Amino acid sequence: EAEVALVGRSNVGKSTLMRELTGHSFDTGGSPGVTREPNHYDWAPEDFVISDLPGFGFMSGVHEDHREQIKTDIVHYLEEYADNILVAVLVVDGKSVIDIIDRHSGPDEIPYDVEMFHFLRELDIPTVVAVNKMDKVDDEDERLDDLCDRLGLLPPWKQWQEVIAPITAKRGQIDPLNEAVREHLHDQNRDDL
Ligand code: GDP
Repeated sequence: EAEVALVGRSNVGKSTLMRELTGHSFDTGGSPGVTREPNHYDWAPEDFVISDLPGFGFMSGVHEDHREQIKTDIVHYLEEYADNILVAVLVVDGKSVIDIIDRHSGPDEIPYDVEMFHFLRELDIPTVVAVNKMDKVDDEDERLDDLCDRLGLLPPWKQWQEVIAPITAKRGQIDPLNEAVREHLHDQNRDDL
């Protein structure tokens, strides 16, 4: 069954977004990232499933080795199911994403979000970056241009509306994401003709 895969660091609002997309509520309490198996959900009324991959990055109470294992599992999952994944949605926190990327950029360090973005492209998985928590961002255009820059996309971000989707999941403001995903699905249908 065709799927849309959701990936992102812990606490970016993946569960909140999932709830908005599916209309279901999920038990997000307990221990973040400890679920190793991707969870599948139907994205009614479309005929595919959404898989919510575990969050990663810092999680209190989760050991470094375990965090690495989660990342490895995600990479393997994506490699294995790349042909089946129609669209990947990389969720980031618009409020903190630039700071986090810049803090982790160095001679032998690639920030996770950037690495994941490039990895998905290498696998030929059409990718939308859902930039969440835009309600907390004042300088929207500047922030999104900065994000394009960090991802290697030439600003302005408005040129990349199939890739960059500013949203506020908490308030159900996710139209740009739905639009972007729909564009990719249409593109693929055209390819199939
Ligand atoms: P997950 O770990 O990625 O699944 O993140 P959650 O969905 O549990 O959300 C983490 C925190 O971010 C919670 O406190 C949410 O209420 C908050 N959050 C999620 N979406 C938004 C949003 O659009 N705006 C704001 N301001 N907070 C949000």
